[in-house]
Amino acid sequence: MRHFAVVGSGPAGFYTAEALVKAFGENATVDIIDKLPVPYGLIRFGVAPDHQSIKAVSRRYDKVAEEAQVRFVGNVGIGEAVSIGELKDLYDAVILAIGAPHDRKLGIEGEELRGVVGSAAFVGWYNGHPDFADLDPPLDGDSAAIIGNGNVALDVARILSKTHDEFAGSDIVGHALDALDRSSIRTITIVGRRGPHQIAMTPKELGELGHLAQAEPEVEAEDLPPVEADEALEPGARKSVSHLRDFAGHDDVGKPKHIHFDFFARPVRIEGEGRAERLVVERTKLDEAGQSVGTGETYAVPASLVVSCIGYQTPRLDGVPYDERGGKFANVDGKIADGLYCVGWARRGPTGTIGTNRPDGYEVAEQVAAQMPAGTDGGKTVGKGLDALLAERGVAATSFDDWRTIEAAEAAAARPDSPREKIVRHHEWLKALGR
Ligand SMILES: Cc1cc2nc3c(=O)[nH]c(=O)nc-3n(C[C@H](O)[C@H](O)[C@H](O)COP(=O)(O)OP(=O)(O)OC[C@H]3O[C@@H](n4cnc5c(N)ncnc54)[C@H](O)[C@@H]3O)c2cc1C
Repeated sequence: MRHFAVVGSGPAGFYTAEALVKAFGENATVDIIDKLPVPYGLIRFGVAPDHQSIKAVSRRYDKVAEEAQVRFVGNVGIGEAVSIGELKDLYDAVILAIGAPHDRKLGIEGEELRGVVGSAAFVGWYNGHPDFADLDPPLDGDSAAIIGNGNVALDVARILSKTHDEFAGSDIVGHALDALDRSSIRTITIVGRRGPHQIAMTPKELGELGHLAQAEPEVEAEDLPPVEADEALEPGARKSVSHLRDFAGHDDVGKPKHIHFDFFARPVRIEGEGRAERLVVERTKLDEAGQSVGTGETYAVPASLVVSCIGYQTPRLDGVPYDERGGKFANVDGKIADGLYCVGWARRGPTGTIGTNRPDGYEVAEQVAAQMPAGTDGGKTVGKGLDALLAERGVAATSFDDWRTIEAAEAAAARPDSPREKIVRHHEWLKALGR
């Protein structure tokens, strides 16, 4: 018998557990441990609340959690309640799937001003992550700047632009919906250092901006390369650029909100009296290698809210080697050390879609299986060792059944047109569980 700990219950954690169950069958147990009382990582706390069909992937993970060999052990932070060393003693292998929950810093003057937030915080706020429930981003100004040219920037722009009715069917948290209803932001500028051919935005997400009830996207025609140059792009990127061309060709139809794409603009500093008022950017151009270089010309983009969507980092864990440059655990093909592996964003850095995490999990499960053929025994005791440690430390772990109870409470409290009213604070979770 073998016993495995998968730390993190996002996509990477669940795909790994699924692969371990397939590889070992009844000859192994898998504990999926998460610091939050509820599972699914960024599926619950990152993917946009108005993209319910994407969030539905969690149904597949439910099936994994229901396997007899698998346990969900929530409310247990590794590196906090239990150390990596302790986990390694308790399990035959530990697989870290803790994602990359920390915002990368902009590293510019004014970053500490009120109204400057990272996307992990902002997205966590509207998705009900307990760490960001009290973020209270200032939406009382008339302009926002969003830094970054990926899909997260598009999510943020769309959420800031939608009307109350356009959130029907989403699971946006009540506090964010109320605040967005009161928002006076009318101009949203998406700032990118490079140009339309260098964006990391996918066509579906870009296309959505063209169908908003009260907001219209705007692109400067002169920022677009000659149309023949699109031929060199792969089909997805070509489609994305064709959306930008549509936005550039649109007449203003008088919608009150505007989403302006400001390409070739590098953030230099954020200015304001006690709070963000403007983002100063430097005009850039591309060099021969396609990198942006400053031209020396600067100008100010009005911004009472600045959301940086420039990527994420995995936090360090004591005893786990770290790749400083990549902002992730140092690993070779997912292996960190004997008996210690990583998958998902903690392995590769914050890139790719949900599905990209699947091969990661399967590859690591294969490596583990090669080290410990099914039928061998590592002399560890089923999750009881962890349970004893948690009991000793007074840590109240949550189970998958607890999650079902929480899920039912959330569904019961749903607002009209919303599938659920998310519970976002620890004491509310405990209350839902009758504790
Ligand atoms: C804003 C945003 C929107 C996105 N939208 C989409 C989309 O629409 N479609 C798509 O395909 N992809 C989307 N993605 C990408 C997708 O979410 C990721 O590919 C995926 O979630 C990464 O999986 P992961 O398991 O590595 O990390 P995560 O999903 O982040 O899971 C990590 C888990 O580890 C837990 N954890 C962290 N630290 C600890 C600790 N110390 N101890 C115990 N547990 C811990 C966390 O609570 C979390 O549950 C989006 C990403 C973001 C940021």
